Amino acid sequence: MTDTKTARKGFSTRAIHHAYDPYAGHGSLNPPVYLSSTYTFPTVEDGAARFAGEQAGFVYSRVGNPTTVLLEQRIADLEGGEAALVTASGMGATTSLLWTLLQPGDEIIADKTLYGCTFGFFNHGLAKFGVKITHIDLTVPANLERAINTATKLVFFESPANPNMRLVDIAAIAAIAHRHDAKVVVDNTYCTPYLQRPIELGADYVVHSATKYLGGHGDLIAGAIVGPKESLDQVRFYGIKDMTGAVLSSQDAFLVLRGIKTLSLRMHRHTENAQGIAEFLANHPKVAVCHYPGLPSFPQLELARRQMKLPGGMIAFELKGGIEAGRRFMNALQLVTRAVSLGDAESLAQHPASMTHSFYTPEERAAHMISEGLVRISAGLEDLEDLLADIEQALVVA
Ligand SMILES: *Cc1c(COP(=O)(O)O)cnc(C)c1O
Repeated sequence: MTDTKTARKGFSTRAIHHAYDPYAGHGSLNPPVYLSSTYTFPTVEDGAARFAGEQAGFVYSRVGNPTTVLLEQRIADLEGGEAALVTASGMGATTSLLWTLLQPGDEIIADKTLYGCTFGFFNHGLAKFGVKITHIDLTVPANLERAINTATKLVFFESPANPNMRLVDIAAIAAIAHRHDAKVVVDNTYCTPYLQRPIELGADYVVHSATKYLGGHGDLIAGAIVGPKESLDQVRFYGIKDMTGAVLSSQDAFLVLRGIKTLSLRMHRHTENAQGIAEFLANHPKVAVCHYPGLPSFPQLELARRQMKLPGGMIAFELKGGIEAGRRFMNALQLVTRAVSLGDAESLAQHPASMTHSFYTPEERAAHMISEGLVRISAGLEDLEDLLADIEQALVVA
């Protein structure tokens, strides 16, 4: 949607103002939270016109609510997409989009490293209904050229990938996929549109876990899909309305709108803290390697600089002492919080081998490129010196 007040304005201005006109209501600085499941019509004829899509207006909040629609317009604008939909979770975004786009017999190509529940949805959900999934290493675009075929409907990846921070060249992958009539879906959760805008680089769709940086305060679960309007109308009227029902509440939409107002500020602070932590870890004798796109030793530094505005707030590093060192390090942390999730004000640490991937065998973890001593840190917004002091004392026992 065009908004004359915010057209051609900068990211932070649009993150605060886009698509909201205070004078349309009571001059309220903040948008109202519409707590209504249903909407009334002046006459049955108006009702019929609204159901037929011939008259603008709301019908029922599973299909649209003024507060969630404002959030959709704002996210679409920030991602540089034609339209957006918000959902009850990041998983609700990916499932609603893919259930709508795919049919039995279709094939998808996904990167080898994926968020665990996305991997589960592909291999247990989609596969059960006749969609074939092929996992390849998309950090090498030539691998896609070899694997893609006429049944390939879409290519799905994250960049940076969770948890080992490998990057995928979005423009190179989109060019190959489009030559073979396949769509490209990027999970942009780690970067947010402030750091990386996949649609401008050629991707067709972006999905988000808005639970993370967009919400930014660890107080909600939400998701978003960005893409072409005609296609997202299908997702709204079939994928979400009839298949997943993964609808975001207006109260949570309000919290995400509030979170996005400070997104650019927060991403700078997250990055500053992550850079400081990464440099400290990279030079520590107990650390085998630190994966962070802002380190000179990062193997894809050139791609990081070309594709991302800043290296971001996520770090992964490998302890030389393996799984036991990982356990000792985690248990010794006093300020950095032991928890999954990311993008919160609080710095969070997770050790896949003893937490999220503890039910895998070491061989299965190796196949997913998760080493025994791999620790992931989501750098929060605290003071860097306090974070470094905590990490330093925990490394003494690691
Ligand atoms: C958390 C996360 C998801 C899932 O989002 P939810 O909001 O928890 O459903 C998907 N992708 C990535 C990269 C994530 O970090």
